[in-house]
Amino acid sequence: MDQPTIQFNDGKTIPQIGLGVWQTPNAEAAPAVRKALEVGYRHVDTAAIYENEEGVGEGIRQSGVARGDIFLTTKLWNDRQSYDAALKAFDESLTRLGTDYVDLFLIHWPSPHRSTYVEAWKALVELKKQGRARSIGVSNFAEEHLERIVGETGETPVLNQIELHPDFQQKALRAVHERLGIRTQSWSPLGQGKLLANPEIAKVAERLGKSVAQVIIRWHLDNGLIVIPKSVTPSRIEENFKVFDFTLDADAKAVLDALDGDNRVGPDPMTAK
Ligand code: NAD
Repeated sequence: MDQPTIQFNDGKTIPQIGLGVWQTPNAEAAPAVRKALEVGYRHVDTAAIYENEEGVGEGIRQSGVARGDIFLTTKLWNDRQSYDAALKAFDESLTRLGTDYVDLFLIHWPSPHRSTYVEAWKALVELKKQGRARSIGVSNFAEEHLERIVGETGETPVLNQIELHPDFQQKALRAVHERLGIRTQSWSPLGQGKLLANPEIAKVAERLGKSVAQVIIRWHLDNGLIVIPKSVTPSRIEENFKVFDFTLDADAKAVLDALDGDNRVGPDPMTAK
């Protein structure tokens, strides 16, 4: 099925919706990934720390969808940020995933107290040169971290995966991304499910004849964001992907735009270890 894609600064493209698999053990990750691929997703977001790369790889193989048609992301955990450790961690991720490349490799958190994220970024640059990480990016980086890796290596990440949802819209950081040519990817796009009980969004959803989750996912798409909602429930995996037959009208957009409360559901990257 035709689905929207976003182009990176390195010329590659990413499907705008992916399946998130945080807090999903291997035994649940495999069927969730298989289901997602069956209903049309072509993008999966995992990480070494999720401890489900084997399940993700298994789900991909079970689906029968060609590896080359799937956009696969994994991430480097914080305690592997030295140059050599990052290269080794990448090899271990590939082994667990059962593939010989990933489409996108991310530094998971800047973990600033370690002062090693620039060294880690140099390893990612090497992996990109080798072609085993087709694109490279970061997650949870603030402006100063982005400026530093670009300044010290000349290599700009393709995207920054950050907490972003209607209650935490990250307008300042999105403007920095725009200036640097970095795409924005929204993690916890549904506020870890908390936004699904929001009565304002519920009214919009009822008027549009869509679910609350679909309205929020559409808000991300309409804002040019790359979005990775998580579910292991087959009907919800399918529902979250059925968002290509409508857009938010001006009234609906205004309701969601007005919800920005600067409320995180996750850790602050400046202090996260
Ligand atoms: P989310 O905002 O995607 O919400 C997920 C929860 O919402 C699910 O557990 C489920 O309970 C509920 N849900 C999903 N679809 C639903 C539907 N249609 N109807 C009703 N309920 C529904 O939260 P998340 O898992 O925190 O974030 C998504 C993904 O982002 C993760 O799986 C992971 O891949 C990524 N992530 C990355 C970081 C990072 O540091 N880079 C941090 C957190 C999450």
